[in-house]
Amino acid sequence: MSPIRCAYHPDRDALQYCNRCGKAICSACVVRAAAGNLCRSCAEGPRRLAGGRSAHVWLWAAAGAVLLLLWLVPRLVR
Ligand SMILES: [Zn+2]
Ligand SMILES: [Zn+2]
Repeated sequence: MSPIRCAYHPDRDALQYCNRCGKAICSACVVRAAAGNLCRSCAEGPRRLAGGRSAHVWLWAAAGAVLLLLWLVPRLVR
């Protein structure tokens, strides 16, 4: 019986599973959160999305898309 390996460290034995995605994770990768033991990506993901920085990026992306359309549409209509 081979031990389960950490999803992030193929050379390490996994000690627990992520509460959110179910990935096997080692003691170095486990992040204790309110939701339980999470893997690194699950612990960081929601926090990053909730932060203002990513919303800012989407705002700039939307503004860029609008500017591109304003530039593109008159050329397509003509
Ligand atoms: Zn996870
Ligand atoms: Zn690990």
